Amino acid sequence: MNATRMQKVVAGIPTRLIIGGEHREAGDGATFEVLDPATGSSLARVASGTVDDAIACVDAAESAAPDWAATAPRQRSDILRRTYELMVERAEDLAVLISAENGKALPDARGEVLYSAEFFRWYAEEAVRVRGEIQTAPAGTNKIIVLRQPVGIAVLVTPWNFPAAMAARKIAPALAAGCTTVLKPAGETPLTALAIAELMVEAGLPAGVLNVLPSRQSGPVVAAMLADPRVRKLSFTGSTEVGRTLLNLANEHIVNSSMELGGNAPFLVFDDADLDAAIAGAMVAKMRNGGEACTAANRFFVQKGIADRFAVRLAEAMGGLRMGPGYVEGTTLGPLVNAKTRDKVAGLVEDAVRAGARARIGGTVPDGAGYYYPPTVLTEVTADAGILRTEIFGPVAPIVTFATEAEAVELANQTEYGLVSYVYTADLGRGLRVSEAIEAGMVGLNRGLVSDPAAPFGGVKESGLGREGGVEGLLAFTETKYIAVDW
Ligand code: NAD
Repeated sequence: MNATRMQKVVAGIPTRLIIGGEHREAGDGATFEVLDPATGSSLARVASGTVDDAIACVDAAESAAPDWAATAPRQRSDILRRTYELMVERAEDLAVLISAENGKALPDARGEVLYSAEFFRWYAEEAVRVRGEIQTAPAGTNKIIVLRQPVGIAVLVTPWNFPAAMAARKIAPALAAGCTTVLKPAGETPLTALAIAELMVEAGLPAGVLNVLPSRQSGPVVAAMLADPRVRKLSFTGSTEVGRTLLNLANEHIVNSSMELGGNAPFLVFDDADLDAAIAGAMVAKMRNGGEACTAANRFFVQKGIADRFAVRLAEAMGGLRMGPGYVEGTTLGPLVNAKTRDKVAGLVEDAVRAGARARIGGTVPDGAGYYYPPTVLTEVTADAGILRTEIFGPVAPIVTFATEAEAVELANQTEYGLVSYVYTADLGRGLRVSEAIEAGMVGLNRGLVSDPAAPFGGVKESGLGREGGVEGLLAFTETKYIAVDW
């Protein structure tokens, strides 16, 4: 794999808005630049949708809605299944594309493509299993019938860190449920979204069911769609800050909302844990996507008896990664997505070190082009350090020690976030007890990876509302209708 191959893949991706099956320039002709995080140079220019383009997307979704909702579930299922197959067939090109615009290393990008494809396969299977209910009213006077109907036009807003997976996790269940959609991908990574939409056309998706609106004016275009009474659903993945703004807007217009927001995952290691397994799990939980994951282990709490050995082994494992352009074969740690993200990570580490933390490895921004930050392990981090209260979103592992189980749980819960947590212990009783006590939507128990299309993914507290994946992920795109009937 080399830069020429990457450029060839990027050159094959459409760069205009996709509205009602047509490729269109933005209404005002505006475009924006997509950058290669490995070099900081331009990869492509993409049309930047306006508010009028956003309303045109809703128009297209509205025109397509009645037919799509009336399509036989098996037909919707077949299109989703075909999308899965095409994604697997084209996995290598898609992985290169993700590496190009997001920066992640090819092994991570390949993993993301297969993970994304699995959402299409899972929801192809679920599309034909949307069940209702029937019961006799307790008074015996009538029947209660409950139907699940498509919620209506859904606006899907996705982040840059998993440009394919976050789109797939929304598109597949929305389409399975019978909704038509407008996808607003992140400005850093619009090409992957456009490539997936192209693939779905090839899979047989009718025009207008999935409209794609890259835009540098994300605030105004999303606000305009939420203010349009035809839009009935907002499914957002991104930061808690933007989620809060969008929830306020959705609230005003009474739009059904699902929110997958930020995380601050604790990674607990007890003295009795299998150290090899804990290190392997930590490498996945911390280093998948170079740490740019909402599920990334952000705070390592390690019991005193195992803490030194854990720190030495983690530094060894993280230090073994090879940093370079994501799309170059052999790279295991790509650059961060942009300069702002890299500078934020560097600032958090500098502050922690100034407050007394020790960098076992890493800790300084390398010279040269690209938004690189090296694998960094920090020990002697104080429990009140700023780095423990902020989503790091980079390859940095701060380690804090603890003495008792109660202290570990208390430390883990000292955050406004509650997406995922990780627990390593050989004592199953303790593992389950701690899993129950931790305030998080998901727990990895002796496991560093929880994401699975068949499981309900989501957070508590300020990490979000609702679940994606699993049966819940499809129900989120349905409305419940109750019919009281005499027969
Ligand atoms: P972000 O909140 O900056 O952006 C997310 C999306 O919202 C992008 O498409 C962006 O263009 C758009 N956006 C930004 N401002 C907007 C506004 N005012 N109105 C409407 N849309 C707006 O997040 P990001 O930097 O792209 O992604 C990183 C964040 O996403 C992290 O906090 C991470 O934890 C979170 N995330 C959460 C999950 C999850 O499942 N819980 C998954 C992946 C990422």
